[in-house]
Amino acid sequence: MIFGKYINRFYKKYFFHFFIGIIFLAFVNVIQLFVPEVIANITRSYDDGTLTTQYLTTNCIYIVLIAFGMLIGRFIWRTFILSGAINIQSDLRLEMFSKNEKLSQNYYKNNKVGGIMSYYTNDLDTINQSFGWGTVMLVDAFFLSILTLIKMFQVNVILTLICLIPLAVLCISAYFIDKKIEEIFLQRQNAFERMSDYTQEMFTGLRVIKAFVREIAEAKAFKKVNLNTKNKDISLVRFSAMLDTLISLLIQGMIVIALFIGGLFIYYTFTGTWNIKFSRADLFEFNGYFNTIIWPMIALGQIIALRSRAKTSLKRITALLDADEDVKDGEVSFLPEIKGQIEFRHFSYKYSDGEEALHDISLTIEAGERVGIVGKIGSGKSTLASVLLRLDNYNRGEIFIDGQDIMTIPLRQLRDNVAYVPQESFLFSTTIKDNICFNNTDLSDEEAIEAAEFADVHSNIVDFVEGYRTLVGERGVTLSGGQKQRIAIARAYIKKSPIMVLDDSVSAVDVKTEEKILSNLREKRKGMTTIVVASRVSTVEHLDKIIVLNNGCLESYGTHEYLMQNSPTYSNMVRLQSLENELEGGDYHG
Ligand code: ADP
Ligand code: MG
Repeated sequence: MIFGKYINRFYKKYFFHFFIGIIFLAFVNVIQLFVPEVIANITRSYDDGTLTTQYLTTNCIYIVLIAFGMLIGRFIWRTFILSGAINIQSDLRLEMFSKNEKLSQNYYKNNKVGGIMSYYTNDLDTINQSFGWGTVMLVDAFFLSILTLIKMFQVNVILTLICLIPLAVLCISAYFIDKKIEEIFLQRQNAFERMSDYTQEMFTGLRVIKAFVREIAEAKAFKKVNLNTKNKDISLVRFSAMLDTLISLLIQGMIVIALFIGGLFIYYTFTGTWNIKFSRADLFEFNGYFNTIIWPMIALGQIIALRSRAKTSLKRITALLDADEDVKDGEVSFLPEIKGQIEFRHFSYKYSDGEEALHDISLTIEAGERVGIVGKIGSGKSTLASVLLRLDNYNRGEIFIDGQDIMTIPLRQLRDNVAYVPQESFLFSTTIKDNICFNNTDLSDEEAIEAAEFADVHSNIVDFVEGYRTLVGERGVTLSGGQKQRIAIARAYIKKSPIMVLDDSVSAVDVKTEEKILSNLREKRKGMTTIVVASRVSTVEHLDKIIVLNNGCLESYGTHEYLMQNSPTYSNMVRLQSLENELEGGDYHG
């Protein structure tokens, strides 16, 4: 049994499961204790010479009934207790998942995905076990052992007291063993987390590993990580084995002693040396109880181990659930409608672990304008495009949408109203249609087609045998970079948000397709704000206005004509591009 702020409520929520389960478990415990007594009774009447066929038959029927009752009882308690534990595991998993969704990038910088996965597998499994088998063992260790002890006392006090010695030893050692296992298990989970991280990264970078023929080197590095996990696993197993052996040793030793002393008692009863009445049947009965009490004693040892492990796992899960959600709604007020005017006022932005990426940006984008962002690599284009989604808490300057500080717009409303196409297109391993309709899976095929036509990818999709039902990713087709980009554009377009941000989203498509998408943007998103980050001037030169970034600073902001006069970076880019075009043209003819 473990307690903690995230799990205490489950005791109440699944009270019924555990209550019914424990009742039936206790029922099985009680009736199973009748077996040694019935067998002893048969022996007794045999020894007295009063045994009849009828007596034997009746008692055998008792035993069959007890066995049957135990079978049914066991089925019921297993179902209730173990399913209660599975429910708890599943509830906790859901809670962890929604927490993980809320955590900001800052958290994921410090906690790698592979490691987080181990919370969902190993740690949750330990919690499940501690609630399921943990409860069973707890009931058995206490209830069954007390019942059995009472029965044993009834048979013979001295023998029982002798048998209590190992139990006492075990209880006292429990405290020290607990601490030790907690320590070993924590090391083991940490090692597992590192290995999980490593494996995950290897899968992600498999193509790079192959391309650079680094398989052997990577395998060597993995060997080290794996060895560490193995060693920690072995220490845990070794310690548990030692514990089990110790307990077995105590128990086996006790059986020998009990048999020896019991034998002596029978002998003394026979010779009449002492005033003792202890028969062969008594020894049978006592031995039957002793066999019954072995399991609760082993269970006690296992509870200690399981509890320590569960406490460690719970600590790790609690740390996840406690992690600071740094980006969340503060004092907010819902905007009745977002029109799409955006204003940056002395806005600066610094990544938590990096240099300042944007310095003192002030500019206004009117609702319905189409604005481009250009600048060298690393000048802050992606940063400027993504800060609209409020991925962090801004405290250096402000961003306003329709005149309201975005820090005071509910996150949900804000993100619902900004359709964002990230620089790195990511598609989910599902159908193309589901990827396009990611925002709302109820959208119709026609709407998906319209969005795909907007992104000029419809003709590619219908070329696939299964069209829009084609699976993407690991188990499906491998799409080209340009196809992925365009599906990502369709996915954002379908939101029909008043603000759309495309971060270098046409970099992998040819010039003709790019022109088609830009003309679609002009037509289909008329009156809606659209921001286009580009690495080519040709992508943005016909837009209403263009933002030129230089090293995180706003160098200039205006129309193509204005910038040709006023922005050295921009006019330089235009010059370089026409030079490139000329060279390419020359190549063609040459
Ligand atoms: P661009 O899109 O113009 O190439 P970015 O906005 O991606 O430029 O990057 C601007 C600066 O911010 C760069 O110096 C880059 O190293 C840094 N940067 C970008 N993303 C992160 C991040 N997630 N964490 C820390 N620094 C970042
Ligand atoms: Mg970028």
